[in-house]
Amino acid sequence: MSKPLVIAIDGPSGSGKSTTSRGVAARLGLAYLDTGALYRAVTVAFLDAGIDPTDAAGVIATVEGAELEISTDPDDQWVRVNGRDVTTEIRAQRTSANASAVSTLPECRANLVARQRALIAAATNGIVAEGRDITTVVAPDADVRLLLTADPEIRMARRKADLGGAIDAAALRDQVLRRDADDSKLVNFTTAADGVTHLDCTFLTLAETIDAVIDLAEAARSK
Ligand code: C5P
Repeated sequence: MSKPLVIAIDGPSGSGKSTTSRGVAARLGLAYLDTGALYRAVTVAFLDAGIDPTDAAGVIATVEGAELEISTDPDDQWVRVNGRDVTTEIRAQRTSANASAVSTLPECRANLVARQRALIAAATNGIVAEGRDITTVVAPDADVRLLLTADPEIRMARRKADLGGAIDAAALRDQVLRRDADDSKLVNFTTAADGVTHLDCTFLTLAETIDAVIDLAEAARSK
């Protein structure tokens, strides 16, 4: 049997990587891993435990002790932390605003990267995994490695549409531009690493972006 296809997609907030990845996974019959959902779920856990985002030891202990379960079905996404379903809560503004408290601590990243590698290894039918460091750290040997970017104005408009328009201008800038700046402290997702294909989807529709990734997957499969 051929080895399962692994597609790694990175990109900044609002680049469309989640929607694209889910679409590719559904079309190719692959699993889908939203690694940002794991960072978000442990963010909910430390906030609920009353831990201050600046309390690094408290955040690290929460992440290391967290029981995390996540669905890799592209059509049925859910995530649980310590037995509690937080699928909706991970999208709240409070969660988005505090996720960098987790992602800027190397100990937290190491813990979550190990869990992500285990989830990818368990996907025996192949998987699309997306985040900020999948092409470079989590799965640098993936069959397809893609950096998906788009201009900041477009990314803010897409994020606003994702949230059904229910966000003010300051919160939107926080969710996209401030978060990108914080998230870039330990991980580079603005320039493509060696061997990573860069796709700027500013002027592409979602369908065109999905088609472009599927073309790359087909090329990788026929190698
Ligand atoms: O992709 P999403 O916006 O849901 O990610 C939420 C947060 O999780 C990001 O702002 C970032 O801090 C963190 N993250 C990360 N590395 C990943 C995925 C997400 O640092 N691979």
